[in-house]
Amino acid sequence: MPELPEVETVRRTLIELVAGRTIERVTVTLPRIIQRPAEPEQFADMLAGRRIETVERRGKFLRIVLDELVLVSHLRMEGRYGLYKSDEPVEKHTHVIFHFTDGTELRYKDVRQFGTMHIFLPGEEFQYPPLNKLGIEPLDGVFTPESLRSALGRRTTKIKPLLLNQQYIVGLGNIYVDEALFAAGIHPERTADTLKKDEWIRLHTAIVETLGRAVEAGGSSIKSYVNGQGEMGLFQYSLQVYGREQEPCRRCGSVISKSVVGGRGTHVCIQCQPLGKSRSTAARKASSGVLPAVREEGRKGKQTANPVRKHFGNL
Ligand SMILES: [Zn+2]
Repeated sequence: MPELPEVETVRRTLIELVAGRTIERVTVTLPRIIQRPAEPEQFADMLAGRRIETVERRGKFLRIVLDELVLVSHLRMEGRYGLYKSDEPVEKHTHVIFHFTDGTELRYKDVRQFGTMHIFLPGEEFQYPPLNKLGIEPLDGVFTPESLRSALGRRTTKIKPLLLNQQYIVGLGNIYVDEALFAAGIHPERTADTLKKDEWIRLHTAIVETLGRAVEAGGSSIKSYVNGQGEMGLFQYSLQVYGREQEPCRRCGSVISKSVVGGRGTHVCIQCQPLGKSRSTAARKASSGVLPAVREEGRKGKQTANPVRKHFGNL
């Protein structure tokens, strides 16, 4: 699935290809790609005669800004755009064609058919799914070590699934979470509440640098990703842990291992990313059985039914 760097690369390429072009008509051959409005005919009617002004990005979503409308597009697994001349043969798995007035066409191809398109009035897209519950943009100035820590720092769940959750930070998928955690020296199974201040700073830096370098490299070409001009990204050659199981760590020489964390294949160097204090502070205190308050109550013979729960209601 394309992550922030790949979607950003597609965005930059699409601007070059389509900004300023006017849509004459739209052909939809796979209605389920179109999520809003409900009918593909209505989708086509709304776009006819509109000029594409620019292409923006929110998380892993493209925002194709037209005059007085916004088209929100998610590529999901294998969606891709390409610009063609109208007399070029239409390739298999092409599901939506934006015919421009100048004889060119923007074609949306999607072998897996998981991609989506939604139309909104400008600004309205942020009030409704799929953009209404997205978290911080990691390449914006608002993303700081403090904002990262305040979003996740009290969570007692593993750091990796938290970083994948688009409600907190957008744009990170499996590749860049593994890479950022390696760069920060943090094991993916550490729970967020065990991270120290300096680790949040390292993690913030790792996320920003990993994503920034991947954007500069045009993304990573894993499986089928190519940008809007059919070019492949190059960041896969810079990956430190992702896809490198059983290979030596480039930093320490230990073997990279692969396991499953939060249902996702996870790559880690256990030398560079020690698990150490794997559980939350609260969980460790609870299982140690030496909570001062519990001892105190025990001595007095007034132990409550579940003293741990009383002090740590979220366990
Ligand atoms: Zn290592």
